[in-house]
Amino acid sequence: MLIYIDGEFLPKAEAKVSVFDHGLLYGDGVFEGIRSYNGRVFKLDEHLERLYDSAKSIMLEIPISIETMEETVLETLRRNNLREAYIRLIITRGVGDLGLDPDKCPKPSIIIIADKIVLYPQKYYEDGLEIITASVRRNYAEAINPRIKSLNYLNNILAKIEGKQAGTEEVLMLNAEGYVVECTGDNIFWIKNGTLVTPPVHMGILEGVTRNSVIDLAREAGIRVEERVFTRHDLYIADECFLTGTAAEVIPVVKIDRRAVGDGQPGKVTQRLIAAFRQLANSTGTPIYTTD
Ligand code: PMP
Repeated sequence: MLIYIDGEFLPKAEAKVSVFDHGLLYGDGVFEGIRSYNGRVFKLDEHLERLYDSAKSIMLEIPISIETMEETVLETLRRNNLREAYIRLIITRGVGDLGLDPDKCPKPSIIIIADKIVLYPQKYYEDGLEIITASVRRNYAEAINPRIKSLNYLNNILAKIEGKQAGTEEVLMLNAEGYVVECTGDNIFWIKNGTLVTPPVHMGILEGVTRNSVIDLAREAGIRVEERVFTRHDLYIADECFLTGTAAEVIPVVKIDRRAVGDGQPGKVTQRLIAAFRQLANSTGTPIYTTD
């Protein structure tokens, strides 16, 4: 495996960062998780735009242009001979001293890891996931805005630990006001009487690339979509529920807080959107190899 670090492609054992990197010391940096299907990178422009927006929001200037970044991502995939991959793109504040001051870090670091994808077990797509609500609340937007995909994921990890202790793969998170926002690494949708609902971005969520694709696909299929505020009550009485994310794609939820969603089986609209999303992911994207 060859990993890109600051202009070089290094073997895994040599791909290392400094202990003085503020990404490690303080979680000061941003990242992206991207996927390629069938020799094409899915929604690469959208992921790169979110990366550069996250960086801008924390006043971190990525030292290469978005066009060069795009080419470097593709080159990392080529060097590793990958067609189906999970790409982790990381920008750290760079090396500084032990103080918080970001200005002590003269040069941000760019790391690109392209690896084989680890998929959720197929049974979850057929039988659905069970989730529970975490007691830990999603970061307050005025503290760390969830729209920034930062290296500081402790908020989500604390919720994930609660899920692990309860034996669930994913965990529902509420915002400080008690409204449903998202899961630790996935956005949430539910369906009632044919209408698809998901929280608006300003509620304090990461604006998922998969979320946005699913909203578009649903609208194209003539499904009514609403981005609005809701509580767990709405989830408990929903007909269907599903999560979206780069790794998970579209995954049904059949149990929330030990209550069955609808009839306790993955719903019809969910299954339709799973198929539509797979079709889109396998037929679009930026080609990695010129022969594709
Ligand atoms: N919410 C959070 C907190 C995430 O970390 C992610 C990405 N893993 C998502 C939602 C889903 O975003 P995307 O569809 O862009 O992967």
